[in-house]
Amino acid sequence: MTEIERSARLLVVDDDDVTRMLACAALEEAGFQVAEAADGEAGLTRFGEFHPDLILLDVLMPGIDGFETCRRLRQQGVRVPVIMLTGLEDTASIELAYDSGATDFIPKPINWTLLRHRVRYALRAADAVDSLLRSERNLSAAQEIARIGSWEWDLSTDRFHRSDNYCALFGEDATSFGKGLSALIERVHPGDRERVCKSLDSVCDGQRYALEYRILRADGQVCTAHEMAVPLSDANGRVVQVQGTLQDISDRVAAEQRIRQLAYFDDLTGLPNRVHFREALQSALLREQARGGHCAVVLINVDRFKRINETLGQDAADRVLQVLALRLGAGHAGTTEDGVAPDRLDAPRMARINADNFALFVEGASGRAAVEAEVQSLLSRAGSAVHMDGQTLNVSFSAGLAFYPKHGDTADTLLKSAEMALGALRRLGEHDAIQCYTEQMKVDAMSRLSMESALREAIDKDQFVLVYQPKVDADRGRIVGGEALVRWHHPTEGVIGPVAFIPLLEEMGLIGHLGQWVLNQACDDLSRWRAAGVPVVPIAVNLSAIQFGRQDLLDSIRDTLDAHEVGADMIELEVTESALMRDTHATAEVLHGLHGLGLSLAVDDFGTGYSSLAYLKRFAVDTLKIDRSFVQDCDGGNHDPAIVRAIIAMARSLGMGLVAEGVETEAQARVLQAHGCPVMQGYLFARPMSEVDFRTALRDGLPGADRFRRAAE
Ligand code: C2E
Ligand code: CA
Ligand code: CA
Repeated sequence: MTEIERSARLLVVDDDDVTRMLACAALEEAGFQVAEAADGEAGLTRFGEFHPDLILLDVLMPGIDGFETCRRLRQQGVRVPVIMLTGLEDTASIELAYDSGATDFIPKPINWTLLRHRVRYALRAADAVDSLLRSERNLSAAQEIARIGSWEWDLSTDRFHRSDNYCALFGEDATSFGKGLSALIERVHPGDRERVCKSLDSVCDGQRYALEYRILRADGQVCTAHEMAVPLSDANGRVVQVQGTLQDISDRVAAEQRIRQLAYFDDLTGLPNRVHFREALQSALLREQARGGHCAVVLINVDRFKRINETLGQDAADRVLQVLALRLGAGHAGTTEDGVAPDRLDAPRMARINADNFALFVEGASGRAAVEAEVQSLLSRAGSAVHMDGQTLNVSFSAGLAFYPKHGDTADTLLKSAEMALGALRRLGEHDAIQCYTEQMKVDAMSRLSMESALREAIDKDQFVLVYQPKVDADRGRIVGGEALVRWHHPTEGVIGPVAFIPLLEEMGLIGHLGQWVLNQACDDLSRWRAAGVPVVPIAVNLSAIQFGRQDLLDSIRDTLDAHEVGADMIELEVTESALMRDTHATAEVLHGLHGLGLSLAVDDFGTGYSSLAYLKRFAVDTLKIDRSFVQDCDGGNHDPAIVRAIIAMARSLGMGLVAEGVETEAQARVLQAHGCPVMQGYLFARPMSEVDFRTALRDGLPGADRFRRAAE
């Protein structure tokens, strides 16, 4: 006995007390729970209270008879088995019993032993039907959720049966959806029809298939479906029927497309990204290899993009990139502005490699000159002014070129080569230029690499020294300051000047280390000079632009000064104009902080950069150092020292200090002095000298420093 049968509840409805009593007794003895009712009405009521799993129902009863009672139960949706107890064994009443919804009937007189078996059997059958119904419902629900529809195709009758879910996938219901196979084929995307028909042919030949195709839905949408079909054969092996399922996989296809979009295209510009570019280039290289051809890789960089980023902020700079991407993408022959063609990975198109770097390749490149000309015209077309947030930006590009097979035979080496060519331009400070890769660049890169490791060692092993160059006040004929300049005592190469290694240290991110060392050394020297009773002067220390942007600059300067008990008035910081202009907002803050510490600030190489009067005022700079190039021009000969005169006048009107750099001749010194710039630094007075020599000069004075002394002093 199953669980259901054992605990089953039965309702016996019979007007005959004896039958009822005996039935109840027999059934209870068999383990059932039994309730009883004496007529149809009472039976209906009892049913509502007792919720039996099966009903035994007498046919002939006063009031409503068994047939009517059964009919009413069924009308209420009751599905439990109903067994009629009938004394009328004629076919008419048997049929009437079934018509009124009875499950079975038992003739009277009742065989009590048989009864319990009939009841059990009915319960078991009802249970089986129930679970079948449930699983059908579940299946249909699952299919609806998974958007699966099923179909059957009878080959003998050519009839096509479809589930409701199937029709729903086409946006139809079973009645509206045209019958027959042709109606179905019409709803297959024209591009996929041939495949679908072929598959149907093959399944008729006994081959199962799985297939993806597009469906034209009644509502005009196109969805993608996955169909599987299996042939069913008769005893002779002849295919008589085909069964299939169809699943709507549009969501999955859309997700795959989105993933592909994310993986292969740049979000900001919609252009293919580096991954896409590499793959496309790689297949282009295979093609060229097969036919012995050439291919050019062009890497394009937006000149001074960093400045655009810093001046406009990242959002606007992103928009600038979008504009440029559109221009570059459109400007390249054979591509369109509308962009994305995800299924054509091999199309040679402009790609965005990263940040402000774009790339394209030219398959079957016909020679360097031709490629350069093409790139040149592309870049000049794309390089017109950009209007953004009320500003007009003049944009230009630089490009690095590398050729297959000469400069590399993989996408990566070619990209690397083109990158090196671009890097060479950048190091030379060139803009709006095109550079092709040369083998020398690799050599240079190698030597830079070994230089880098040597520099790391230099920091570890303390191979740097400071030299000092005096600043002389010509009017008074004495030293009024000094500039600390760093030198590298290379173990084998000898003394190396800062120009050769500072840019590299900046690139390596190690300039902060050196800067800290320089400041520390200068403070150390200052405090030792003071302790030795030498009359000290303020010492200027150079700050690199990168240091200037660092958050911890103020703290580390303060700590260093404190550690050596050196007053802030004894240290001056020299910063180039371009460093000041990198991020004008942050700069103003740093300067404010530096002033707060009591430090003074000089603009180095003044006149060569971009700073404007407005910025000088805003930054509250203390001193301008007139760049050597202007000083060298004012030799008192035929040249009118117009620029120097203007700078001097301006500094005076702003109440700023002035130092002329790189004074090499007496003539220059006289002109500067005559126009009101008496403080000078240059070979005329002294070259940068060792700490020992500088200390001596501080104590004993600098020979020749007083040759321009003014009588008044
Ligand atoms: P700078 O700050 O403009 O330094 C002046 C440079 O001009 C020094 O070159 C100096 O030797 C040179 N000089 C001085 N007088 C004359 C002259 O009469 N004629 C000529 N032709 N040159 C003269 P140096 O020492 O080679 O330094 C080059 C640059 O390296 C410096 O230019 C400065 O920007 C940078 N630098 C030097 N030391 C440091 C440092 O400790 N930290 C940082 N960040 N940069 C430094
Ligand atoms: Ca300097
Ligand atoms: Ca300078």
